[in-house]
Amino acid sequence: MILFCSIRSGWATQHAIFRTAKMMRKLSFLVALVLLSLVSFAGVLLYSKDSFLTYLTTTYAVANGNYTFSGRVKETEDPKVSQGTTHMPASMNKTLGPCTDPPPNLLGPLQVEFNLSLTLEEVIKEISPALQEGGRYKPPDCIAIQKVAIIIPFRNRHVHLKQWLYYLHPILMRQQLDYGVYVINQDGDGLFNRAKLMNAGYVEALKQYDYDCFVFSDVDLVPLDDRNIYKCFDNPRHLSVAIDKFNFILPYDTIFGGVSSFFKNQFLKINGFPNTYWGWGGEDDDIYKRTLFRGMSISRPDSETGRYKMIVHNRDLHNEANPKNPEKLIHTETTMDEDGINSLKYTVKEIVKGALYTFITVDIQAPAS
Ligand code: UDP
Ligand code: BGC
Ligand code: MN
Repeated sequence: MILFCSIRSGWATQHAIFRTAKMMRKLSFLVALVLLSLVSFAGVLLYSKDSFLTYLTTTYAVANGNYTFSGRVKETEDPKVSQGTTHMPASMNKTLGPCTDPPPNLLGPLQVEFNLSLTLEEVIKEISPALQEGGRYKPPDCIAIQKVAIIIPFRNRHVHLKQWLYYLHPILMRQQLDYGVYVINQDGDGLFNRAKLMNAGYVEALKQYDYDCFVFSDVDLVPLDDRNIYKCFDNPRHLSVAIDKFNFILPYDTIFGGVSSFFKNQFLKINGFPNTYWGWGGEDDDIYKRTLFRGMSISRPDSETGRYKMIVHNRDLHNEANPKNPEKLIHTETTMDEDGINSLKYTVKEIVKGALYTFITVDIQAPAS
């Protein structure tokens, strides 16, 4: 009996050892299999560009990816702006393609009424979520075709500015521009000088960002068609060709006031704008002549696309028509070489980066009126 028991237990032990060995073989096969899959998975992750691992280890700048890190630091020292605030989730951040030309979401003719009941705070609340501080914008899903600084000569027209911001920001966003809005505010109550303010705006905007195109716009002009793109063309462009104030026609063929655009090299070719047209009138005619004298012509949209509404206003105090200005036009060809961006003198009094625009107050050494 005892013998039988010991034989049984010996057989059982042997059997158990045999089973364990079989299990161990299976287990090590499984472990090897798991290890192998892990190694190949890691390999796939490491070599895939858009992988989760890459996502974890790469620092994403901003949504459209054409903003270098050093560029962002240069743009502003405010850490809030350096974060490259965007309304696009970083996880969707891929290498972006160029924006299509023309932009896909334009509406064409627009309804514009200057009876806006919203306060500036309400306009800010409505529009600022899509913007970066200082009135900067970049399309979230493509790389803009141009980097555009919008320069507005300004003094004491806040009611107009609010409406301009309300209507223009959504248009400029639909136009998929990489843009910034710069309001150049003339300090003091000396004679107004629209062209000199625009020169200062050119210089100041370039200190903020590497713009390649400059759109100069009066604060009271709103386009009635978003196909009128606020960008630059092969020749300097006159955008405001059909203003309601002039019954939607050009009052004369060579008019160049209102809204115009210049590539940086076009602007420099004409030595910028004149600094010496104090008070109202003539400065835009001088710019027109400069353009022609430097072998360029004026490009314009057609009269449907180029329709505008101007906010009704009186001539401002200290911006009365200056009878000396038309006379100056006779000499543009010779004066343009020494009166322009190469002779510009002004001092910056203050720069405020608001939610919808950058407000730059400049002392342009204006004579008293
Ligand atoms: N402007 C301003 N404050 C002034 C005078 C002029 O802001 O006191 C600016 C504003 O952008 C305005 C532009 O200069 O739209 C041209 O002046 P204005 O509108 O009087 O000229 P218009 O084209 O209506 O004759
Ligand atoms: C002035 C321009 C102005 C135009 C339209 C001309 O007489 O010289 O500066 O833009 O009238 O108002
Ligand atoms: Mn006006």
